[in-house]
Amino acid sequence: MKEQRFTAPAPAGLGVEMVGVPKDAEIEVDSRLESVMEGVLVSGTALLPIQGECARCLDDISFTLEVEFQELFVYDDTRSAAGADEDEHRLDGDLLDLEPVLRDAVVLALPLSPLCQDDCPGLCAECGARLADVGPGHTHDVADPRWAALQGLAEQREESQEG
Ligand SMILES: [Zn+2]
Ligand SMILES: [Zn+2]
Repeated sequence: MKEQRFTAPAPAGLGVEMVGVPKDAEIEVDSRLESVMEGVLVSGTALLPIQGECARCLDDISFTLEVEFQELFVYDDTRSAAGADEDEHRLDGDLLDLEPVLRDAVVLALPLSPLCQDDCPGLCAECGARLADVGPGHTHDVADPRWAALQGLAEQREESQEG
């Protein structure tokens, strides 16, 4: 078994619609290569810097995603004919093509609707303010005239008590 640790720049388009790895961001891969009958079994973990937007409030999100992957790279005919030693040598100097494997793992691991926090309250339907910023008490004056009338009464009463 061989272990390979390396960093590689992210390819473009690694992610889903609202969230993903920025192009050329550094991906840290920690992989194990294992020779098996059919080829080489590559498994390991990758740390990916993720950036995106909260699906509710559109705030920027960034976090590190850790994905596990496992993929069997099967020898093609020419490689198996060349003998095991040469195969190992070839694979050693080669990072293999982990990109499709990582792409699958990332797409599976990323939330389709990423949130800046689990209970992100989103945006105010009235004014579009980010509710996490303005606080839970954020409301707008109720336009209903009956409420306005009641409020007027209350204000009058306060005034008369003061005076
Ligand atoms: Zn949010
Ligand atoms: Zn508002």
